[in-house]
Amino acid sequence: MLEDHFQVIDFNKKLKFWYLQNHRPLLWRQTSDPYKIWLSEIILQQTRVAQGTPYYEKFVLDYPTVFDLAAADEKDVLRLWQGLGYYSRARNMHFTARQIVNEFNGEFPASAVQLAKLKGLGNYTAAAIASFAFGEAIPAIDGNVYRVMARLFGIFTDILSNEGKKEFLVLAKQLVSQEDPATYNQAMIEFGALQCVPGIPDCSVCPFNDICYAYEFNMQSKLPVKAKKLTVRNRYFNYFILQKGEKLAMQERKGKDIWKGLYDFLMFESAGLLTSPEDFYENEIIHNLMLKGRIREVPKVYLHLLTHQRLNVRFWWIDIPENTQVDLPSDLHFYDQDEIYTLPKPILVDTVLKEENYL
Ligand code: SF4
Repeated sequence: MLEDHFQVIDFNKKLKFWYLQNHRPLLWRQTSDPYKIWLSEIILQQTRVAQGTPYYEKFVLDYPTVFDLAAADEKDVLRLWQGLGYYSRARNMHFTARQIVNEFNGEFPASAVQLAKLKGLGNYTAAAIASFAFGEAIPAIDGNVYRVMARLFGIFTDILSNEGKKEFLVLAKQLVSQEDPATYNQAMIEFGALQCVPGIPDCSVCPFNDICYAYEFNMQSKLPVKAKKLTVRNRYFNYFILQKGEKLAMQERKGKDIWKGLYDFLMFESAGLLTSPEDFYENEIIHNLMLKGRIREVPKVYLHLLTHQRLNVRFWWIDIPENTQVDLPSDLHFYDQDEIYTLPKPILVDTVLKEENYL
């Protein structure tokens, strides 16, 4: 541990020096506009910088201010977000933009405590915006920062436990620079992302290898401790793409399940992988549709990984002659190709439509 104030100052100086030499010139680091910083932070939750950067650029271009985003249609926001996953982030972001316009006259609250009350903002994001945009001396602790602190100071408390969160917060508050908290937080995050990386970091070039616990005791791969294991559930989705001429039947997903607000096809979930149309003979809707059209199977089984779910997905196309009347479940409607292009869709649906040369 850093025993006194002077050691903390020394640590901060070294960290800032490393940052100035090594940091990436990321777009959102070149602004103090809380709206743009907030956009970047929401986009980068669960997303890598390389994947998130083009989305950040698109959002800033299409919605340059919080007023523009608040005035947008949710469908258009989801369409722009398409491919990033975790769509609740986009819905919450849109909701929060409206809240900021309606309740705060378009001005972001300036403190982490107030920011954390907004939808979709956890403690880390609130602290990041408060320090980057408003200079509040508060530590922003993301996964990178937990890793750096755990290794440097030899902390074996589970970072996902409440006890761990408290312990790391106490230490982080001692470390954060009072003079320049924005650069300090950026530097800690970047140091974890580029130097003290997961797996085996190159400690030989680290400016802190003279004080680092993990380096001294060869514990880099043991720290940080993350005890909770994610349980991943297998799910089996069976999609039926009903086609009439160039139109396809799609529906907006509702309820509490994944992909709320996005559009997909008639779908039945099963307990295991189904392999042939005969598996659906018991299903009255599919049975009737099969009698009216020609069914074609997409041979591939698509595997789609989410944080807690592994989706095993199959697609069948049913071509229905244009003059044939079909009774569709009430949520399903036929859309033409141009409409389908602009509808927000799970990336998996978009991929299949492209692979099948529809889009
Ligand atoms: S010496 Fe290695 S483990 Fe320690 S802070 Fe530096 S990079 Fe991380």
